[in-house]
Amino acid sequence: MTVLVFVLLIAAGLLVSLYLRSRKELRSYKDAVEEQRQRDAEFLRRLQRRTELLHRLADGIEDGLFIIGADLKLHFVNLGARHFFPPVAEPVGRPVAECIPDARVMDVITECVRSARRVSRDIVVTVPGEDALEERVYVALALPLPPDSIHVTEGEILLILRDETEKHKLEKIRRDFVANASHELRTPLSIIIGYLENVLEGDLTEPDEVSRAFTVMKKHGDRLAQIVEDLLIISRMESGQPDALKLEDFDLKECAEDVLQRLSPVISQKKATARVDANGSPVRLHGDPFYWDQILFNLVQNALKENSRTGLEVVIGLHAEGNDVNVEVRDNGVGIPQADLPYIFKRFYRVVRHETSGVKGTGLGLSIVRRAVEAHQGNITVRSRPGVETVFTIKVPREMASGNGEGAAG
Ligand code: ADP
Repeated sequence: MTVLVFVLLIAAGLLVSLYLRSRKELRSYKDAVEEQRQRDAEFLRRLQRRTELLHRLADGIEDGLFIIGADLKLHFVNLGARHFFPPVAEPVGRPVAECIPDARVMDVITECVRSARRVSRDIVVTVPGEDALEERVYVALALPLPPDSIHVTEGEILLILRDETEKHKLEKIRRDFVANASHELRTPLSIIIGYLENVLEGDLTEPDEVSRAFTVMKKHGDRLAQIVEDLLIISRMESGQPDALKLEDFDLKECAEDVLQRLSPVISQKKATARVDANGSPVRLHGDPFYWDQILFNLVQNALKENSRTGLEVVIGLHAEGNDVNVEVRDNGVGIPQADLPYIFKRFYRVVRHETSGVKGTGLGLSIVRRAVEAHQGNITVRSRPGVETVFTIKVPREMASGNGEGAAG
């Protein structure tokens, strides 16, 4: 009996200790589950925050970003996409062809999905511009996304649409410049070399023939010097050197009259009229007369050389207004097409026009003008109604605020 009680006691003891142990284990298991739950919840919160951040970042990008599933349905689209195609209500989950109504972009997508390789293509589209239809160059780049268990599912691809119109335009300007500049330099050089060969080989025997040859060589030599001078001025202005400006007090009206005087052979050759309109009084300015000569010379020369019509009139208007001086160079010639206006101040940009296609130039003149005006803390704008009037307007302080070019005064 005592043995039985003893055994029962031991068994009860064992049961109690087993119970206590399993309760402890259960508690620690529950704790572990709770901890895991909290970790999962935190992980989900972070994932959500990260996803929101990614969406915000994606929306801050100007490119159009689309994530497309292997079933060609849209899984994600950013805000930038609306610059490319009209936005569609509730696009996520829809067939991508409904959101991107362009067969060429769809080809890029399907090729990428099919080949699981990166596909890129330039696409030229015609879209309504401010005044007329304009061509824009989009790059469509599709690349497969490596699947991960969280953000990307098997077979998803990323499509990026980027507007590279400006880049293409600048690239074209650069290419045109190299072609233009080499042409501009080569033409006078080959004329000079041709005449020199004639003289050296004794082909020109008469003194007046030789003299004519030298006159032509001198003219083309001057032109070469002018092109090189333009390039040097531009590079000096772009270097930002503190001694780029030599400031002094001078009369802008005198400077304008001098420019017209120097251009008088062209003015009479074009049967044009040109005058300075300054209400008869001097227009004092604290600036670099060398650059003001460049500014006015280039503007008037452009007005003359770009226009071959009769009755051409060029006016340099100079008016003081408070602490500013307003300069207007106005002509009534062929004008500048609206589409070219945003680019004419860029280096090497030239307007292609049949009427003046024979006109020589490097596309540097207006870029020198703008840089020189800005170096005087002024600004320049242009408006043009082709065939009616073209007006370049400069507003510049009479006296520059200190700290700019002042070290070079004198
Ligand atoms: P360039 O040195 O070759 O003349 P610019 O930079 O001075 O080049 O001018 C850029 C373009 O702007 C030129 O191709 C010219 O056709 C155009 N342009 C500038 N001024 C006028 C104007 N007054 N009338 C018509 N076209 C102009």
